[in-house]
Amino acid sequence: MLVLKFGGTSVGSVKNMTNVKTIVSEGGRKVVVLSAMSGTTNALVEISNTIKDGKTEAALQLVEQLHQKYIEVANDLFSNQEYVNASLSYIEEVFAELKACASKPHSQLLYNIIVSKGELLSTFMFSRFLQQDGKKARLISALDFMRTDRNNEPDAFYIKQNLNRILAEDKDAEIFITQGFICLDADGNTSNLERGGSDYTASIIGAAVKAEEVQIWTDIDGFHNNDPRFVHNTDAISHLSFDEAAELAYFGAKILHPQTVMPVRDLEIPVRIKNTMEPKAFGTLIDDKAEGEGIKAIAAIDGITAIKIKSARMLQAHGFLKKVFEIFEKYHTSIDMITTSEIAVSLTIDDDTYLKDIVMELEEFSTVEVDTHRTIVCVVGNNIANHPDTHKLFQILQDVNIRMISYGGSNNNISLLINTSDKVETLQKLHRYIFEMSLA
Ligand code: ASP
Ligand code: MG
Repeated sequence: MLVLKFGGTSVGSVKNMTNVKTIVSEGGRKVVVLSAMSGTTNALVEISNTIKDGKTEAALQLVEQLHQKYIEVANDLFSNQEYVNASLSYIEEVFAELKACASKPHSQLLYNIIVSKGELLSTFMFSRFLQQDGKKARLISALDFMRTDRNNEPDAFYIKQNLNRILAEDKDAEIFITQGFICLDADGNTSNLERGGSDYTASIIGAAVKAEEVQIWTDIDGFHNNDPRFVHNTDAISHLSFDEAAELAYFGAKILHPQTVMPVRDLEIPVRIKNTMEPKAFGTLIDDKAEGEGIKAIAAIDGITAIKIKSARMLQAHGFLKKVFEIFEKYHTSIDMITTSEIAVSLTIDDDTYLKDIVMELEEFSTVEVDTHRTIVCVVGNNIANHPDTHKLFQILQDVNIRMISYGGSNNNISLLINTSDKVETLQKLHRYIFEMSLA
């Protein structure tokens, strides 16, 4: 069994949906996971925010705009009028619910219900699109098997039991289509795996059905060795280990949801990134093998806050770091980079929701300095911490103002904290010296 996930752009137009139809029509039985059509989840989030602001009329207008877009898609997608009508009546149902949401009091649950509609619409239409062509396609609802537990983690046992039962019920179907992103929470309410979560859905499903491979189909031919938005002449990377991919996915390469490799890595199920617009391109294969030497990729993540915690009492004192970490744990804020000296520790966070409270508590026993608008540049490769060329990184970066360095945390990663205003230049410089000139 294969699991194929298609992102928002891949199902974002009639033309692209036609490409996806060709791709999923090949090969054996498979589960196809879809995102919402591109732009839809953002539009739904805006609707939810507008309701939250109490602007009912404005929210209704936004709902109507999106409604018109879907009516157009339904008319363009199908040639058979019966299918157009079936889609239109589903669309009416969904948008009637969205309109009703506009006058309800806002809550997290209301938000979850509103944003779930994007995937429900795309999967309904795409499954009918395949059926119109006589394909043995069956729509299955993620809400019948995808569920999180009390810790907000996917409930692997529940998912496995229910999904395999549902798949076994229909021996004829060749293409099962389901929604990415959406799920039920432990209380059985509509919820989701957070923005970008469809990739994660695909690998959770991959693990549940012990797939041969999980394929993430997107609008780029795999992970690139640098950020193509800021650097010219980047190349796709043909192979990454699970560890390398996890580092890159977290550090800014927006291609894959950072959790994606987790469910499949222990089962050694490969993940392949493919380009829907160029299906013949190799893409990136991610598996348990570590290959090659030296630096393979550079990525950057913005919006980082650095916190320096200084205390004379840290000197030769044990338990200082524990005290610091406990505060971050209390506020559910995860730490990304960390460096220490004998009297100070610097660390970074990307979620500053509780920054004020955290700083207040740290100040009870230390002096705290906070720098916002920082960027982590992350250099990834197999065994780079030990590679003879790695020290040259520092030569290349001699003019860049580096605030923190994390080296040796893993063999696959070196992270540098810089000012966001230096990011583009740093990425370009590293690219030139590492990939274009070869370190000399
Ligand atoms: N549609 C959701 C989003 O835009 C989930 C996804 O596409 O992965 O975040
Ligand atoms: Mg995505």
